[in-house]
Amino acid sequence: MLIGTPRELAAGESRVAMTPESAVQLQKLGYDCAIETGAGAAAGFSDAAYEAAGVEIIKTPAALWKAADIIAKVRQPDAAELKRLAKGKTLISFFNPAGNEDGMALAKAKGANVIAMEMVPRISRAQKMDALSSMANIAGYRAVIEAGNNFGRFFTGQITAAGKVPPAKVLVVGAGVAGLAAIGTSTSLGAVTYAFDVRPEVAEQVESMGAEFVYLDFEEDQQDGAATGGYAAVSSPEFREAQLAKFRELAPEMDIVITTALIPNRDAPKLWLADMVAAMKPGSVIVDLAAERGGNVEGTVKDEKVVTDNGVTIIGYTDFPSRMAAQASSLYATNIRHMMTDLTPDKDGQVNHNMEDDVIRGATVAFEGEITFPPPPPKVQ
Ligand code: NAD
Repeated sequence: MLIGTPRELAAGESRVAMTPESAVQLQKLGYDCAIETGAGAAAGFSDAAYEAAGVEIIKTPAALWKAADIIAKVRQPDAAELKRLAKGKTLISFFNPAGNEDGMALAKAKGANVIAMEMVPRISRAQKMDALSSMANIAGYRAVIEAGNNFGRFFTGQITAAGKVPPAKVLVVGAGVAGLAAIGTSTSLGAVTYAFDVRPEVAEQVESMGAEFVYLDFEEDQQDGAATGGYAAVSSPEFREAQLAKFRELAPEMDIVITTALIPNRDAPKLWLADMVAAMKPGSVIVDLAAERGGNVEGTVKDEKVVTDNGVTIIGYTDFPSRMAAQASSLYATNIRHMMTDLTPDKDGQVNHNMEDDVIRGATVAFEGEITFPPPPPKVQ
């Protein structure tokens, strides 16, 4: 079977779903590989590099979608792309099944199989295919780099002949995958780093990375906003007030604030309010990694960088992984390659779409003319 990767069509998208390295691994599973000409260029992978890795270069998207049995891409395909699907073809990409009714209907009508990368179950066995985590890791790292680029000072403290420089103070709100990556990057650059999460079980992890966990002056259980399965729930009004009071206290001291707080299936909670932004020093920087879901910060404009009247920069970009396209493509292509490994138990270049397998079943949102989303709850192990 042929695995093909087209050029991404979304404006500003620089990632690619197959790299020369992943293509070599896919060929070891028995597949032939193809890309649309120029598909890897924005991520730094030339056609020549793909050719050297045994990948066929196909000139047009129409020819690529027609030839490929399996189409691997990054972004949710648009309607024109989806119309190129057909019975027997398998698409692997982000697909946003919960918010993409038209796409789901088209996939069903075409009888194609769709594996949505955001639906990979977050269990240990599937970590190697967990594209949400690999992209969140990059976003967290890049958020700190972007903040540094907009912050006119050092992260680390220095004593120089020209004077003493204090270390920057960084607060990371939300210590999930992106938050932990931001904390690690911030401490490694030498900033004094603080972190808060509604899940107190992350405190140890935060502290082991050299950051300080921010505890609330809250009499009840600190665990108020934690839900099961490692995710957050909505906090009680009392807990939220305690959290906001703590943030109000910290705001004038912080040079950089990175917010990553999310609750599954909800808009991002507003946690850094306008008065906190107003209390920050001029030159401070906020990066709101929750901008895609409405933002944690009052004043965030999605995909924009704004500077407030008091000189605070608020960054609401939603394309951090694409801003590190080479790294993001390598990790994403590896996630896809691992998915293909599980789909190809006999390493014979043939897909065995085993719907009895929890991971494959969980990620499959359309299968042989049926919509298979949402998946059944995972079996109790
Ligand atoms: P996420 O993106 O859903 O949320 C980011 C963080 O925001 C979470 O840590 C959450 O607790 C926090 N948050 C929510 N509301 C908040 C508030 N009001 N104030 C402060 N923080 C708030 O999270 P994620 O990065 O997807 O990770 C969620 C969980 O899934 C974690 O426990 C993680 O370890 C786990 N996980 C497991 C696997 C796996 O086993 N394969 C893979 C990835 C993540």
